[in-house]
Parts: sequence; C-alpha cells; structure tokens
Amino acid sequence: MNIVITGGAGFIGSHVVKLFVKKYPQYKIINVDALTYAGNLENVATVSNAPNYVFEKLDIRDENTVNQLFKKYNVDAVIHLAAESHVDRSIENPNDFVLTNVVGTVNLLNSAKNHWKNNGKKHLFYHISTDEVYGSLDIDGGYFFETTSYDPRSPYSASKASSDHFVRAYYHTYNLPVVLSNCSNNYGPFQYPEKLIPVVIDKIINNQPIPLYGKGINVRDWLYVEDHADAIDKIFHNGILGATYNIGGENECSNIQLVESLCKILDNKLGRAEHTSKNLISFVQDRAGHDLRYAINCDKIKNDLGWTQSLIFEEGLEKTVDWYLKIWSK
Ligand code: NAD
Repeated sequence: MNIVITGGAGFIGSHVVKLFVKKYPQYKIINVDALTYAGNLENVATVSNAPNYVFEKLDIRDENTVNQLFKKYNVDAVIHLAAESHVDRSIENPNDFVLTNVVGTVNLLNSAKNHWKNNGKKHLFYHISTDEVYGSLDIDGGYFFETTSYDPRSPYSASKASSDHFVRAYYHTYNLPVVLSNCSNNYGPFQYPEKLIPVVIDKIINNQPIPLYGKGINVRDWLYVEDHADAIDKIFHNGILGATYNIGGENECSNIQLVESLCKILDNKLGRAEHTSKNLISFVQDRAGHDLRYAINCDKIKNDLGWTQSLIFEEGLEKTVDWYLKIWSK
C-alpha cells in the first residue's frame, strides 16, 4: 500500500510518519510537506533512511502537483494532516488558512476521486481535524460529541470546519472512502515553539516573562501526541467508512493550572527554589474571540476501536519538558 501522509514534517504528522514507517515495513510511506515555517525534516530524521520512506516537498495549494503526486506514486491512501495550525496566525492572516486548509484539502480530494475512480482497489482518505470546530463550552457545560453541531469561532477552526464538510460531502456525493477524526490539544516533543507549552518552557528556561492570555481561565483538554498517533493508526486500519471519531485526553486543565505545573516541574529540574518561575507569569490582553472551554467525549473510539490514552498528564509533561531541555541545551 502506498500511503501519502501530508504535513509529515510538522508536529503531529512527524509522529504519525515515524510510527507508520517503523510499524509497517510493508507500506510505502510518502511524506508530503511544503516545509513552511512549521515543517522541519529533523522531526523525521530517525526514519529518513528507511527503505519504505520517501519525502516529497510539495504544496497542496497547487492542484497540478497534487495530481502528479497521485500518478507518480499510484497513491492508495491519504492521511491528511497538512494545515496552517496556529489560531493566532489565523487571526492575523485568515487567507493562508483558507488556501491551505480548505483549497489544499479539496485539491487532495479531487485527485483521490479522479485517481481512484473505478480502479477496483481499496482506498482511504483519512482527514485529521480538531475539536475546535465544535465551538466553545461553558465552564460546566458538558462535552463535545461526534454529533455536536459545528460552531467554529476562529478563522482557523472555520477553515478546519469547512475542510471537514468537504470531506463528508465527497463521501456522500462521490462515494469517496473517507474517515475523519477530531482531536483536542496535543502536546509533546517536536512541537514548533509558538504553541503554549513549548513557549512557556522556553520562557521559564530563559527567565523571561511568561505571557498568559486574559486571566488564564480558559480550559483545554490535552493529549500526548504519541497517543494521538496511536489513535490515528487504529482509525486508519479499523475505522468505519464515513465515520467521525473524537479523540481526547480526558484531561481538562485551565491555562493557569498548566503554566503553574510547568513552573513547578522546571523549578525542580533547574534546581531553582520553589515558586521561583511562577513569578514570571505575566497576564496579557486576551486573544480576540478566545473560546472559553473545550472538552471532548471520546467514548466512541474507546468502545469501538479499543483505543485509550497511555500516559497521565504529569508523566507526559515531564517527558515533554525533558525533551525540550535536551534539545535546547545542544
Ligand atoms: P503543524 O503546524 O506542526 O504542522 C503542519 C505541517 O503542514 C507543517 O509541516 C507544514 O510545513 C505543513 N504544511 C502547511 N501548509 C502546507 C501546504 N500548503 N502544503 C503542504 N504542507 C503544508 O501542525 P500540527 O499541530 O502537527 O497539526 C497537524 C494537523 O492536526 C492539522 O491538520 C491540525 O489542524 C490538526 N490538529 C492539531 C492539533 C494540535 O493540538 N496541534 C489538535 C487537533 C488537530
């Protein structure tokens, strides 16, 4: 099977590429990535010489090159993670998010539809999405289910919601074999240092003010990135066509709680007196349209596919901190 993984030089995609290359030597893994600021081939250095791995630098916004990709590799399946992924950047420049997340996804869908038409083989287009498409919850306002109506609030989540709708539309209209998953916030090694956890670790290490939006009360659910890759593996192999699966850590935490945990871990690891790093917290003007709370119900993937989280949050944070301390000390 020839599997294209888009966004494989990014944070989550690199973990998925490494898992598939190592676990499935019988598959050919084609890592497709434009190497934007968020993509880095160092993230997949451990598999770059594997015989079942190949990298293609390619921009999914370009319809022709996406078509050529399908022809060149006779692509059997796609795991689609390439995206503009940072909410703050989407507020600054929504157009990039429309072009990559919506138009890029439709380019891939069209190529899959045309290339797979009547060839009698088994195929799959697996689209990776976010829980942010469901909107915002009250502090005590329940959970997102697979059946929750979409209510995106940021340009990022609006672009992801749009791409999700296109994927489902291709399933219903053209019988394209698709599956989707919507996951909560990921954390772990190899995350580009513009997202909350690596930013906070960086500031603490360098004794600089830790910027925290508003009053730090916004709640997110956090999942260790390798657990997300494992869920993707299970859905890719056993998911029902046309279905959506929610994936989450069942691990809600306010931003202030998260930052304080990182301060505590790093005070300990850096040999600083207790509460030293906490004094670096600096509240800044809230993000425009900042969603208050995300919380996800992931019973379906647990019950139907036997997936579960492997790490508790404290362990995952320790592993993440250790990884950043190691690479930033080089
Ligand atoms: P990331 O920003 O770390 O990586 C995105 C990758 O896509 C980069 O390697 C980048 O070079 C590539 N890319 C961007 N534009 C491209 C284009 N036009 N053509 C080809 N490649 C392009 O993102 P991530 O955090 O790894 O997220 C991956 C996917 O998972 C995204 O679809 C995102 O919406 C989704 N997701 C992320 C999270 C999270 O917490 N990070 C949670 C749920 C879902």
